[in-house]
Amino acid sequence: MSGKIRFKENLGETAYESECELLMELGPSLIRCLTTQALHDLVLVNNEYDIPYLAGYSVDGQTIYMDRRLPNKLKIDGQNVEIQAYILFHERIEKLLIDLYHMDYQQAHKHATHWENSLVAMSGVSPRSYEQALLPYIRGAAHESVQRVPADLDLTPYVDENDKTLLRRIMRAN
Ligand SMILES: [Zn+2]
Repeated sequence: MSGKIRFKENLGETAYESECELLMELGPSLIRCLTTQALHDLVLVNNEYDIPYLAGYSVDGQTIYMDRRLPNKLKIDGQNVEIQAYILFHERIEKLLIDLYHMDYQQAHKHATHWENSLVAMSGVSPRSYEQALLPYIRGAAHESVQRVPADLDLTPYVDENDKTLLRRIMRAN
């Protein structure tokens, strides 16, 4: 409960209200969906590749890719936070929203971020500190040369961001 209150303070009131409405609509079926697809068990997590933007998923959604430079835990606000668990959650939700609810990437990413931040806050870590802690890894993944990219990486997010330089780099890596 306290997590929710903290989260509300971090976003503008209006943004929070509209997020809430949509999540109320999506909530029950999304939870059912995530439960039946066994969020943690049925998905493969692969840490072997260079993944721009930190993490991604295979086209079929069966594999979640984490950038190989991403540590499992980071010290945030004095706590050892298992960041990959939250990122996994984000990627799973995003992919489900795109595939099952036909959202575009931007919308799906926004919702996935909201749910991810809610979880982070519930565990007593400030979402802002969490995002700050991840920033160096996101930049690194996007700006360093991308050498090894999985052949089945879903390119939807990169196409949607219209990141042409990055896409060319991914194509070259494949
Ligand atoms: Zn995302």
